[in-house]
Amino acid sequence: MNSAIHERACHLIDAWHVEGLTAGDREWLDAHLAECGDCRDRARASERALQALRSHALTTEPGLVGATQARVRMRARELRENQARWRALWIACAFSWILGALTAPLLWHVLGWLGRSLEMSQVVRLALFACCWFAPASVVGVILAWKQARLADTPAGPKDWEH
Ligand SMILES: [Zn+2]
Repeated sequence: MNSAIHERACHLIDAWHVEGLTAGDREWLDAHLAECGDCRDRARASERALQALRSHALTTEPGLVGATQARVRMRARELRENQARWRALWIACAFSWILGALTAPLLWHVLGWLGRSLEMSQVVRLALFACCWFAPASVVGVILAWKQARLADTPAGPKDWEH
């Protein structure tokens, strides 16, 4: 089985105990645990560690508690970073929309002048206008999709929780 699938399962097992899962993620995790013994063992070990912590009877593997805490801290940091990224993206989008609305009349005027000077047809001017409107958002969308794909392909770092 693909190691990225096990990575996702480990990530969801940790998220399940910290922040909960969406119905879709829970369904996916249940299906994976039903067929993957390693991940099922890991889920049970995490559950036992949490039960031991709750009962104050610390009879778990010493490395597992530290690794679980490290994963929880890492996940909390990821959530904070994602929140900051989304906030920055929304601010940039709002700025872009406002700027686009403010510059549309000027762009239309410039394209009209250019069209008359170069004897362009109305269709070409409309197409240029549409490109000027959609090109920045399309470029940003492609960059975001590319970055997201790179993040999905990046290994999750050292697997110190597996010791
Ligand atoms: Zn697995």
